[in-house]
Amino acid sequence: VRLGDKIRGREDLRVSFEFFPPKTEKMEETLWDSIKRLEPLQPNFVSVTYGAGGSTRERTHATVARIVKETSLKPAAHLTCVGASREEVDEVVQAYWDAGIRHIVALRGDMPELGTPYKPHEKGYQSVPELIRGIKAIGDFEVSVSAYPERHPESPDGDADLRLLQDKIEAGATRAITQFTFDSSIYGTFMERVEKAGIKVPIVPGIMPTTNFKGISRMAEKCGATVPGWLADYYEGLDDDLTTRKLIAAAVAVEQVHDLERMGFRDFHFYTLNQADLTYAICHILGLKPSTKPTPGLKAAE
Ligand code: FAD
Repeated sequence: VRLGDKIRGREDLRVSFEFFPPKTEKMEETLWDSIKRLEPLQPNFVSVTYGAGGSTRERTHATVARIVKETSLKPAAHLTCVGASREEVDEVVQAYWDAGIRHIVALRGDMPELGTPYKPHEKGYQSVPELIRGIKAIGDFEVSVSAYPERHPESPDGDADLRLLQDKIEAGATRAITQFTFDSSIYGTFMERVEKAGIKVPIVPGIMPTTNFKGISRMAEKCGATVPGWLADYYEGLDDDLTTRKLIAAAVAVEQVHDLERMGFRDFHFYTLNQADLTYAICHILGLKPSTKPTPGLKAAE
């Protein structure tokens, strides 16, 4: 496919892909192979995470800046305000603007010590709505934020999360990407509450194709996502069998996006974990395909 050609079919769907900044040269190679493989699917945007407490500040910047320079993709840079003064955060935002980045995923972030209650930096942005106002004062960025269908672990109740989401929208956010949630029926209840709250921005389910079940279970526990018993059953006995885990991950994610499509969702955000193959296959099944001419150098899907 020549970039810029329309991808075949499913013009009603919008997908986005999330990556994390690489630590080593080898990881950088894997990331760029994945970016190049997914680029012909013409995602709405691709996002790059910001390591806990800003630990990947330089690497996140380098990755989004390279995406701007070397691809046709529109990057979104994640940014957290935890543990940083306004001045430090503003510097990062200004550097994104100067590098041609026009989309930020604005987040609170977590305290460095696991389980410590959140405390904003004394000279920092006190909340995500404040952070968004700070970002907008620097440049007319598109701003996406988080949403929690199962409620954030530090939230007093789900309604507090929705009120906060409304404040983020009032401050200028135009899209909410959800924490991953495996039980699709939770999205049904969540969307009823979102509609009741009068929230109109697109809510984009975050899809996590899960090959490392143990790792995801640990992460889910930390971030308050339920791991359904049926999912644990699927992966049981497969600790040493990556091939089968991959096949199951694709099947589970495809079933989930089909469920969510039936509910009316048309935007999907894939947590790629820098691996292209599962996301590529799932998008293909969804009907997102590069045009009939193969991209030179792009290996055929096996
Ligand atoms: P918010 O939505 O602002 O708040 C979450 C909860 O914390 C709410 O319940 C709120 O009531 C409570 N809260 C907010 N402010 C305060 C306060 N001042 N005092 C007490 N409680 C408060 N993390 C990273 O480090 N880097 C990333 O790149 C990253 N990307 C993410 C992308 C997505 C799509 C999602 C869903 C999460 C991501 N995270 C990332 C994780 C995120 O930082 C954590 O989930 C964090 O705990 C909350 O950040 P938030 O912006 O979602 O918080």
